[in-house]
Amino acid sequence: MEYADIASLHQVSKIALGTWAIGGWMWGGSDERDAIATIHRAQELGINIIDTAPVYGFGRAEEIVGKALRQMPVSQRPYIATKVGLNWRDGKVYRDSRPARLRKEVDDSLRRLGIDHIDLYFVHWPDHQSDFAEAAQTLESLRAQGKIREIAVSNFQPADMREFLKGAGIAANQLPYNLFERDIEKATLPFCREHRIPIVAYGALCRGLLSGKMTAERKFTGDDLRRVDPKFQAPRFSHYLAAAEALEALAARLGHSLLGLALRWLLDQPDLACALWGARRPEQLENLPEALGWHLDSENFREIDEILQKHIPDPVGPEFMAPPEERPEDL
Ligand code: NAP
Repeated sequence: MEYADIASLHQVSKIALGTWAIGGWMWGGSDERDAIATIHRAQELGINIIDTAPVYGFGRAEEIVGKALRQMPVSQRPYIATKVGLNWRDGKVYRDSRPARLRKEVDDSLRRLGIDHIDLYFVHWPDHQSDFAEAAQTLESLRAQGKIREIAVSNFQPADMREFLKGAGIAANQLPYNLFERDIEKATLPFCREHRIPIVAYGALCRGLLSGKMTAERKFTGDDLRRVDPKFQAPRFSHYLAAAEALEALAARLGHSLLGLALRWLLDQPDLACALWGARRPEQLENLPEALGWHLDSENFREIDEILQKHIPDPVGPEFMAPPEERPEDL
């Protein structure tokens, strides 16, 4: 395993387990036994940080992580990263970083996870209807009470971070970043670099497109978000699959897999603290060694960029995931 420090958290594994799919919601459901086995397998493979959120399955993912933690010796428990600042009603999700919401959510998360503090606490999405500095100060007070250890943000642009920094330091910014989603390179990543804010990359496998197992025949069922993700709709789906195939051929030439290349590309980014790997079945993590113990050189990076330019004429980001800016008045 490779490690990074995130503020006071030392030796955090650079691959983290993401548990959105474990919550089931927007991923067509999940199986609790598989999910718990996945968390335990991650720990055996050297992954020592788990990323979750209250909204993943509306509490379900945090509860499952809590169950898995209770079955582990305390000394082997991973760092826990969870999130705050989203509310939901009737299956719809809204941004809410008002102080009362933040104070309520932390207690709900601690209860579901069955732990006495959260190691890394991300504001899930910027709430432009709330005061950023006030939200940051509220989180500082939760830190002073010992409920959280490090304050972080997610999906924050430079202007959002600038405001937030008036109330608290930022230990990390969790952002969409993978071979197919590189929008943060324009402004957000340079801002983070300048302010020494490490990146936690989500969607490392681009929702399975970079797993090496995605095919044109794959059917998505139920509420699986890939039914609405524009990358998985014609004609773009075939562009991304063609890019994945060309990247796989490059990876094979280097003696590696597509999944290994996708993760290695992230791990070799200088500003990266962790790459989040979403898995819900233990066998999905067995390819982990494919990402470790090698590096891409500048010629490899150039070839990768060439492949992306050639096969993806109309790139699209993960904007479709963003919760609405407005929330109902009575929420
Ligand atoms: P991801 O890691 O890019 O892809 C996850 C999907 O890839 C899995 O559900 C699985 O799909 C497939 N996969 C994983 N390992 C595989 C393997 N070995 N072989 C074949 N397929 C494999 O996607 P993500 O879950 O969106 O992102 C990772 C994590 O980032 C999330 O779990 C969450 O913790 C975090 N996240 C945060 C935000 C935010 O706003 N902060 C947003 C999105 C995600 P199937 O199980 O369907 O096969």
